[in-house]
Amino acid sequence: MQKTSVADLLQSEKKGIEVHVKGWVRSFRSNRFVALNDGSTINNIQCVIDFEATDENLLKRINTGAAIAVKGILEDSQGKGQSVEIRVTKLEILGDSNPDDYPIQPKKHSFEFLRENAHLRVRTNTFSAVMRVRSALSFAVHQYFTQHGFYNVHTPIVTGSDAEGAGEMFRVSTLDAINPPMTDEGKIDYSKDFFGKETNLTVSGQLEAETYAMALGKVYTFGPTFRAENSNTTRHLAEFWMIEPEVAFNDLDANMDLAEDFIQSVIKSVLETCKDDLEFLNERFVKEESQKPQLQRSDMSLLEKLQFVLDNNFKRVSYTEAFEILRNSKPNKKKKFQFPVNEWGVDLQSEHERFLVEKHFKCPVILFDYPATIKAFYMRLNEDGKTVRAMDVLFPGIGEIVGGSQREERLDVLKEKIKALDIDEKELWWYLDTRRFGTAVHSGFGLGFERLVQFVTGMGNIRDVIPFPRTPQNAEF
Ligand code: ATP
Ligand code: MN
Repeated sequence: MQKTSVADLLQSEKKGIEVHVKGWVRSFRSNRFVALNDGSTINNIQCVIDFEATDENLLKRINTGAAIAVKGILEDSQGKGQSVEIRVTKLEILGDSNPDDYPIQPKKHSFEFLRENAHLRVRTNTFSAVMRVRSALSFAVHQYFTQHGFYNVHTPIVTGSDAEGAGEMFRVSTLDAINPPMTDEGKIDYSKDFFGKETNLTVSGQLEAETYAMALGKVYTFGPTFRAENSNTTRHLAEFWMIEPEVAFNDLDANMDLAEDFIQSVIKSVLETCKDDLEFLNERFVKEESQKPQLQRSDMSLLEKLQFVLDNNFKRVSYTEAFEILRNSKPNKKKKFQFPVNEWGVDLQSEHERFLVEKHFKCPVILFDYPATIKAFYMRLNEDGKTVRAMDVLFPGIGEIVGGSQREERLDVLKEKIKALDIDEKELWWYLDTRRFGTAVHSGFGLGFERLVQFVTGMGNIRDVIPFPRTPQNAEF
């Protein structure tokens, strides 16, 4: 007999038929009602057992977490909160779960506790909902780009270029860690290493993606990226997934249009495909917020926040305008910022970004034309000679969700900037070739996938939106 998913059964109009379902017990009460979940939906199906006709030893084994197979008749439910239930005719234990040992009980666990049990936390409502939304978002990303004529490019994860410039890198090496081969100058001899040179895990696929945009026109990468930074925040992971579109002939305005349309489209998509999960996460979010002090509380529910992003254009503001707003802001004057904003050219910190988004504009903001000194070498220099065509998209509760730019397409200007940074031009010979042969205006950005998942699910900590988070001092599982 064919197995049916719980999601399909709960939608089913066909009552009185025999059904077969497999899943894990979420709870068992009154020796009669099994709440069964198989991952296909946030909702459980109620399986009603005739306990008088059931072997006592079998009843004892229906514990939270156990895997079971159920055969029975689909009926209208007597209880409230569900449309159908299964009157069980045959129940089989597939895998026991000892209630004395099983960590995930039907009660509220702290996120800290669940992080230590990351291999089991997906069996909770919250984490299964988050991970289903994550999966749907990932699909929506590929769908958006495919529908808009982009090609997906798999850029390398092991990189031989040390000029990506986005952050500290993890070295990839097969050399003997205790006795590595040394050069005459007393340095580690990477020419003897696996790749014959020093290699690292990538921090961004951008530079490689740019070369592909110069032939395929519109491309994107969506893969793992790594940063060996000691950032213990709720928004940083050492291993995260990044979405990086790169488009030939797009200037910065077109780049902003793309970022805005892309984010709105994928959010719209999951609002349609993940209704049940988002409603559950919405309730969780509202409950969580109600326990915070008034001033830190979000005045919108999660679903309202998502709708707000769809209904409102992102406010576009130059760095210089934002700098003036921040300089004259109350928290700056009252010295409430940890990093004061006094001189044009300062890098904006998360506290400043959040002030602009949450207190001043009260909507998503795109900051553009940043000082060249605080941005990467490949960003296009403006006519003023001191700002570059950079853009950051800032979101409420998250801060920076996207960082991007129009790229410097002029070979001479790019070479100057590389020289000023003391990077050896030869290291970037292949990158510079794109400017030597058929160079063109082009733009792109990087969007941290987990920050997007955080925003959509309303989860406060980035460690709770990726299955097995990698952070400083933590690579369990
Ligand atoms: P931040 O200033 O927030 O540390 P960044 O400016 O270093 O970020 P970029 O190099 O611009 O980040 O990377 C592009 C995007 O990747 C960011 O906008 C963000 O969404 C995401 N991102 C960057 N670093 C991390 C990280 N450590 N963990 C998760 N996402 C990240
Ligand atoms: Mn950035």
